[in-house]
Amino acid sequence: MKRRRALVTGASSGLGAHFAGLLAREGIGTLWLAARSEARLEATLRRCREAGAGDVRPLALDVTDAAGLAASFARIGEAGGLDLLVNNAGIAETAPALEVDPAGFDRVLDTNLRGAWLCATEAARLMRGSGGDIVNIASILGLRVAGGVAPYAISKAGLVQMTRALAVEWARHGIRVNALAPGYVETELNRDFFATEAGAALVRRIPMRRLGRPEDLDAPFLLLASGASTWLTAAVLTVDGGHHASPL
Ligand code: NDP
Repeated sequence: MKRRRALVTGASSGLGAHFAGLLAREGIGTLWLAARSEARLEATLRRCREAGAGDVRPLALDVTDAAGLAASFARIGEAGGLDLLVNNAGIAETAPALEVDPAGFDRVLDTNLRGAWLCATEAARLMRGSGGDIVNIASILGLRVAGGVAPYAISKAGLVQMTRALAVEWARHGIRVNALAPGYVETELNRDFFATEAGAALVRRIPMRRLGRPEDLDAPFLLLASGASTWLTAAVLTVDGGHHASPL
């Protein structure tokens, strides 16, 4: 970990901030924290420094902006390169499919799928000589479906297949590409919903009968992100209390 240089997208809140803090505690060498708003990265930046990470750098970028991304990755290349990309930036919008307009569909796909593709290809250009790890944060909604989130589920299914396609192409470069597919993790954004009867009904369908906590993802994340799993690529690791396998 001490020699690794990592970039976490969507590091200003939720799981991205959590993964960044975890990498900091594990002693990552260089940590780039990315999101659209540099101001919103401040709290994560501070927590990572408090956790002992010496070299933490904020990076304002929008994963939907190909030209901007090229410039950001050029900066990372000039600073020495990259060993780990955590493709975590993502958005979810909830609406019945018949009410999703083309712009809404594009917003979700552009961020969750095309954005992850652009970051992965930029990262792979930097990793080509020396190898590295790309961890795509997918979702069990890339493997199963739920009502009201069709574009999100479609984007995550695409991300799962992208993981396999890029793993196969880039194995020759020593680049491993894996996906973490979390189930429902309780965050501030969804806490109110899970306090409702509909939320409680959803939790009853999880075999382990509870929501995930961000720290439930720590060991599976490190398996994919630490560089220790030298023969693991094209894997999709579901971490969800058994939810994806719940009985039909
Ligand atoms: P949050 O909404 O808390 O965080 C999303 C992050 O992505 C923010 O840092 C946001 O920062 C950033 N972001 C959004 N759009 C862009 C963009 N265009 N360019 C750059 N950064 C962007 O979400 P979560 O932590 O809940 O989710 C993180 C990932 O985990 C997502 O991919 C999500 O699909 C996945 N996931 C989450 C689960 C959960 O239960 N929470 C379960 C399964 C998967 P800013 O707005 O400043 O750009």
